[in-house]
Amino acid sequence: MNLTRTAEILYDSILTLAYPQVCVICRHSVEQSRLGVACETCWRETRILTDEERICLKCGLPDQERCGRCEELAFTAARAAGIYEGALRESVLLLKRQPYVPRHVESLLTDVVRREPLSRSTRVVPAPLHPKRLKTRGFNQASVIGQTVSKALRLPLDEVSLVRVSTTEKYRTGMDTKGRRDTVAGAFRVAHPRLIAGENILLVDDVFTTGATTSACAEVLIAAGAENVFVLTVARAR
Ligand SMILES: [Zn+2]
Ligand SMILES: [Zn+2]
Repeated sequence: MNLTRTAEILYDSILTLAYPQVCVICRHSVEQSRLGVACETCWRETRILTDEERICLKCGLPDQERCGRCEELAFTAARAAGIYEGALRESVLLLKRQPYVPRHVESLLTDVVRREPLSRSTRVVPAPLHPKRLKTRGFNQASVIGQTVSKALRLPLDEVSLVRVSTTEKYRTGMDTKGRRDTVAGAFRVAHPRLIAGENILLVDDVFTTGATTSACAEVLIAAGAENVFVLTVARAR
C-alpha cells in the first residue's frame, strides 16, 4: 500500500469516527458507532443466520438441510453471518472502500466461528485479491476480515500461503475458451504447503455467491494437505 493511499484511508476512517453517522439505508442517525453504516432498525430487518436457522449443512444456504447444489464444491463447510441484503450488504460495500470492520459485524463473525464446524478452525487464510485489483484498491477486504477474526479468536493469520496467480500466467499455461470463461478455476496456488498441511483452514472472504471462488481456493488448499477448509463470509446470496 503506498503512503498517499494509506493517508486517504486513515483520513476517511477518522471522519467516520468523528462525525455522527447517517444510516446509508434509511438516512436516520446510527445510534452506536459499533453498528457501522446502518441503524438499529435496518440491522433488525437484515436476516442474520443464527444457530437456530435451518441451513444446508455444507454450503450454509438457508431453509434446507441439503440444498443439492453444493456437492461439487471443494470446501468442507461454508457459513455466513447472514444474507447479502440491507445492513450486511452495506457493510460489505463499505469494506470495499475502507479497511474497517464495525464491532457489530465483528461479533456476528466471531459468533459464527464459535459454532460447529467452524469452531475446529486452526488457521485463518484470507481469499487473495487479484494483484491488479489490490494495486488499485490499496487493500484486500478479505485480509481485513481475516485480521479481525484472527485477533478476536486468537487464531494464527496466514496471508502468505494462498496466492492468486495473474490472469496472464493462467493463460500461458494453455487453457481453452471454456477454461478462460471460468475465471477462477486455476487462479489460486499454495505458496507454502508446509504451513497448510494438517491444518483446519478458515478461509475468509466478504461474500459467498456461487461458491466458485472459495471452492477454487479450497481445492488447492486440500491438494496442499489441509485437513478441512471451512469458509467464513460476512454475507451470502440467498
Ligand atoms: Zn437505517
Ligand atoms: Zn448446499
